This record gives sequence, C-alpha cells and structure tokens, in this order.
Amino acid sequence: MVHSKILICDDEENIRESLKIVLGDHYNLISVDSGEMAMEVLSKAKDIKLMLLDIKMPKVNGLDILQEIKKKFSHLKIIMVTGYNSVETAAEATRLGACGYIVKPFKSEEILETVKKNLNP
Ligand SMILES: [Mg+2]
Repeated sequence: MVHSKILICDDEENIRESLKIVLGDHYNLISVDSGEMAMEVLSKAKDIKLMLLDIKMPKVNGLDILQEIKKKFSHLKIIMVTGYNSVETAAEATRLGACGYIVKPFKSEEILETVKKNLNP
C-alpha cells in the first residue's frame, strides 16, 4: 500500500517531532520549518495531498502562508495547527481555505482522526 504524502510545516522542532511520531507509521511525511520551505517543497513534490500548517511562526504567519499556498496549490488540503485555542483564528483560517484545525497540545487520536477524515472524505 502506498502511503499518502503529508507536508508538516511548523517552526518548533518538538512539534514536528510529535507529529512525526503520531503520523509516521501511517503516512509518508516531509517536514519543514517555514512557509518559504513549504512553498519550495510543494512546487517540487506534486503528489502531496495534505499539509499541517502552524499558525504562529516567526517570519510569515500561517494565515498568510495559507493564502499564498491556496493561490498556487488549490487542490491541497490544509489543516492548521494552532497554539491558541482561538475560535476566531480558526474561523479565519477556514474562511481562507483551510479544511480544519488542531489545537496544541493535541492528542494523537485527534490528529490521526482529522488527517484521515480529510484524506478520505
Ligand atoms: Mg509556531
């Protein structure tokens, strides 16, 4: 069975690691620490189905990256990862094209469930 490719974009290494631990057995993962790197990976790897995108990052924030990515890769499903349990941020992300969000600290089952649901609607 071929595992779907997922792109993880988060500036914190421990978050990238936790996501790898949870998703690594089920999916083919690529992880990056900035929106810039994410754009680069996406323009090369056309078979990425879904992306987990951090909202709070040092240079360009996740909401801006989300808009950039949606313009170029409209088919890509994007799930936001946020440290703020903020309904407004999540609503804004959804309005901008994200298909869901996960609040840190997250539970393993929650991530698996959200990813699975979005890959096989
Ligand atoms: Mg962050």
